[in-house]
Amino acid sequence: MKKKHYKPSDSALKQTRTTEEAPSSLNPRLVQRRKKQIVPTKSVDELVDGIMKQDRVALAQAITLVESAHPKHQETAQKVIEACLPHSGNSLRIGITGTPGVGKSTFIEALGQYIIEQGHRPAILAIDPSSQLSKGSILGDKTRMEKLSQSKDAFIRPSPTGGSLGGVARKTRESILLCEAAKYDVILIETVGVGQSETSVHAMVDFFLLLILPGAGDELQGIKRGIVEMADLIAVNKADGEREKLAKQAKRAYTNALHLFPPKASQWIPPVHTCSALAQAGLAEIWNSVQAFAAQTQSNGFLQQQRNEQALDWFRESISQQLGKIFYENPAVQKQLPEMEAAILDGRLSSFQAAGRLLSLFVNY
Ligand code: GDP
Repeated sequence: MKKKHYKPSDSALKQTRTTEEAPSSLNPRLVQRRKKQIVPTKSVDELVDGIMKQDRVALAQAITLVESAHPKHQETAQKVIEACLPHSGNSLRIGITGTPGVGKSTFIEALGQYIIEQGHRPAILAIDPSSQLSKGSILGDKTRMEKLSQSKDAFIRPSPTGGSLGGVARKTRESILLCEAAKYDVILIETVGVGQSETSVHAMVDFFLLLILPGAGDELQGIKRGIVEMADLIAVNKADGEREKLAKQAKRAYTNALHLFPPKASQWIPPVHTCSALAQAGLAEIWNSVQAFAAQTQSNGFLQQQRNEQALDWFRESISQQLGKIFYENPAVQKQLPEMEAAILDGRLSSFQAAGRLLSLFVNY
C-alpha cells in the first residue's frame, strides 16, 4: 500500500501566517483575497454585542485578539471573554482525533452538515501542533470543508499558530467560550493525531471521538497507547467499497478490545461504529450515540463533574504557565541561565541543583 506522507499544509484547519490575519468561517477563498487583514479595531462592547448577535465577523475578530500575543489585544480579549463567560457552556464539546489521512476533515465536513440538518449550529476549531512547522503557509490554498464553510450555521476556525502546545490549547479553550456565547451548540475540535495534542483536546471536551482505518491494528495505524482508552466512541472510517468487510472486522476487534478496559468514570460504554465520511454513511448512528452519551452523563452528573474538574485543572495549568513565563523573563534568571546550562553540560551541577540555584535567585530577586 502506498504510504501517505502527511504535510502540515494538508490540514484542513491549518494555521494562518500571523495573528494579524483574521481567518474567518467565511468562504476560504475570501480569506485568500484578504490576506493582509489588519487587527480588528472594534471596542470590547462592539465585539461582545456582535458575538451575542451571532455575528461571525465579530466572533472571528474576537478570536484573533485571543490568539494575538500583543498585550493590548490580550487585554481586550480578556474583557470580551469575561463578558461572554456567563453566556458560555451551553454546548456539547466534541474532540475528534485520528492519524493523518484517516479522514478527519472529510468526516467533520459530513458530520457538520448532518447535524446542521438536525437543527444544530456547529463551530469547528482545531489544535494542530504541526502547524507551527509550516509557519508562513497561506490559508485557503487548498479548500477543504467547502460545503460546511459556506453554511451560515457553521463557523470554522483554523488552528492558532505559534507558542507551545499549552499556549495553543489556551487559545482554543478561550475560543470555545466565545463560540458558545455566539450560540454554537456543538463544538467540534479537530486534532491531528500526532504529538501530545490529543491529551490537550481530551482535557477540554465532553466527548472524545477516535477515527480509525479499517483493518490494521493500533501500532500499524500509528495510534498511540492510551488514545483508544480515552475514546468515548470509535468510528472505523472508509467503510466503503472493498474496505467494508475489513471495517466490520476492525469493528469487532475494537469492540472486544474495549471490553478489556476498566469501566469509565462516566459509566459510558464506548461503542464502535463503521462509517464512510466520503459517502456520508453511518453518521446518524454516530450522532445518536453522541446524544445518548450526553443524555446519560447529564442525568448521572458526570458531564458537569468533568467540566468542573477540567476548569480546576486549567486553573492550575494557567498558574504554572504564567509562573514559567514570569520566571524566564526575570533578569537575574536570564543572566544566570546560560551559566547554569553550561554547568549541567560540564557535569559541575546536576539538573536538579542548577534548577534549585536559579529558583532561589528568582525568589530572592
Ligand atoms: P485527515 O488527514 O484525517 O483530515 O483526512 P482527510 O479528510 O484529508 O482524508 C484523507 C483522504 O481520505 C482523502 O483523500 C479523502 O477523500 C479520503 N477519505 C476520507 N474519508 C473517506 C471515506 O469515508 N472513504 C474513502 N474511500 N475515502 C475517504
